[in-house]
Amino acid sequence: MKAKNCVICNIRKGKRFCVKEKDYICSKCCGLIRDPQLCPNDCPYFGSLTEKKGQEELPIYKVLMTTPKGSRSIVVAREKENGNIQFISTLVDEWKMGLKDCFGSYDIPKKEFNRFVGMQPQYADANLDECKEKIKRGILIAETLGLKLPREFSKFKRILGDLDSIELTGSLYKCFDCGKADLTDAEVEAIKEVTLRDVAAGDCGTESETMLYFVCDGCKGKEECEGESNEERALAEAAKARRGRDKRSRYRRSRDRRLI
Ligand SMILES: [Zn+2]
Ligand SMILES: [Zn+2]
Ligand SMILES: [Zn+2]
Repeated sequence: MKAKNCVICNIRKGKRFCVKEKDYICSKCCGLIRDPQLCPNDCPYFGSLTEKKGQEELPIYKVLMTTPKGSRSIVVAREKENGNIQFISTLVDEWKMGLKDCFGSYDIPKKEFNRFVGMQPQYADANLDECKEKIKRGILIAETLGLKLPREFSKFKRILGDLDSIELTGSLYKCFDCGKADLTDAEVEAIKEVTLRDVAAGDCGTESETMLYFVCDGCKGKEECEGESNEERALAEAAKARRGRDKRSRYRRSRDRRLI
């Protein structure tokens, strides 16, 4: 039987059966209409190697991260050949729950994307590897605590690109001030315990959430030299990062002063 023409372009021979079109299409049109959200995972053409490689190598359009510490919103956007944008937006609670929210799109007009990010004034340009590291640590935190990753994450994570090459070192949580130095095992255990208690009580994201603030020895030294104001500022920043959560008890590492 002679192959008939592709039902989309009607120019080239339709040699691939497309599940979406329910008819034969050509390889060129197949590539053009392929969409991770609409194509079934078991489509042999969708899963092809070239497609996977092509997806990861779309040029970066924007990498954004909110500046207040604590809960970070991170957006990675790539520009598609058609000029539209594909993006993933994640919320990472670097102090307690890890990766806790995700959404995105595989095709959104540039204008609409820019309007969306324009609504969040705390976004600043960020480094892709740094963002990947925060997200990967967020995954590790959630997994360590036994929390479920956001369902949407599996759908959009490929937009981030390769996470395997990103190495996580040191303690699970980092100094709440510099974000780099390790915390002690006892401190990490304390954070895990409080987080799990809050999760179990349904307190996360509410006013009764327990707020912890652990800093490394280096940052603690700095605070003591510059006096209480620095500490207060850090706490204010932490409070800002956890919008809408005002009243809460504050813990500090045991050998430190107890605040409030
Ligand atoms: Zn065609
Ligand atoms: Zn297909
Ligand atoms: Zn520090």
